[in-house]
Amino acid sequence: MKQSVVKIDNLVKRYGELVALDHFSLDIHEGEIFGLLGPNGSGKTTTINCLLSLLSFDKGDIQIFGRKMTPTSYDIKQQIGVIMQNVAVFDELTVAENIDYFCGLYITDPVKRRQYTEEAVQFVGLEDFLRFRPKKLSGGLLRRLNIACGIAHKPRLIILDEPTVAVDPQSRNRILEGIAALNRSGATVIYTSHYMEEVEQLCTRIAIMDKGKKIAEGTKDELKRMIRNTETVTIEILALADDIRAEIAALPHIYDTAYDGSRLTVFCSGGKHNLIRILHVLQEHSVSFGRVYSELPTLNDVFLEITGKALRDKGD
Ligand code: ADP
Ligand code: MG
Repeated sequence: MKQSVVKIDNLVKRYGELVALDHFSLDIHEGEIFGLLGPNGSGKTTTINCLLSLLSFDKGDIQIFGRKMTPTSYDIKQQIGVIMQNVAVFDELTVAENIDYFCGLYITDPVKRRQYTEEAVQFVGLEDFLRFRPKKLSGGLLRRLNIACGIAHKPRLIILDEPTVAVDPQSRNRILEGIAALNRSGATVIYTSHYMEEVEQLCTRIAIMDKGKKIAEGTKDELKRMIRNTETVTIEILALADDIRAEIAALPHIYDTAYDGSRLTVFCSGGKHNLIRILHVLQEHSVSFGRVYSELPTLNDVFLEITGKALRDKGD
């Protein structure tokens, strides 16, 4: 059994009337890249702030590295690297000075401090921007600087709160690869996001949150096995009679269909050859169709089946 790095028991956090965390529990082990996945407002940042003792809470217990976390647990805090959702660097300092400053908060030996700062620069790929001030950096580079400041002291636990929001694809990939590399070199990672694809790609275990509650937890494969959806077939059809749609809906393994006037979506649970059977019905009735595709379940389907709403934001 791997050592517990973070243990949250029955956490309750209220903001006035609003219950932001509702008996929320987590157990994160050494070596994991643990994903907290949930829509905006589900309580991810509140969880992180409670974890770090930056926010008081109404009920519950938090242990980090097997010890109770309190606002004065400096020895624990020293071993944590935090990358907050809102970038927090000094505008007056250059890229190199910022990283050196944050590293110096933890690392006092000057030789080690210089070495760690250089490694952090290379790590996020900011070698060409050392003398830039933050205001001169693009959004993606600024995020990378924020990350370098958070990880330069080589913490045992790294917490990243939505580090890829509004980041260009190149920086995004660099960030995701960087997190995987930090994990390979021994760090335990907590990663929050509302982008299910990222969480699915990166995380070894995932907790899905909604309205301050944990609604599901497991590896991505375990999460997908919790739902009945095994395949979603989509077919472009410009005109589809109700009786033909009903005939498709009555085929084996099909539990739901949707038609929006141009696309038929068929939700299947188990079974093989679903697509062939559906196309056979269309052919029998001489219905012409365009593009056809079949998708395996995503974490969005998991969220949809459990909560009845989509995780994906429109336009995201
Ligand atoms: P997430 O990080 O998943 O987007 P948050 O933890 O920021 O979610 O927010 C959870 C809920 O708590 C939301 O409904 C949000 O509006 C509310 N909330 C967050 N911070 C505050 C605050 N300081 N005062 C009042 N309500 C807050
Ligand atoms: Mg947040």
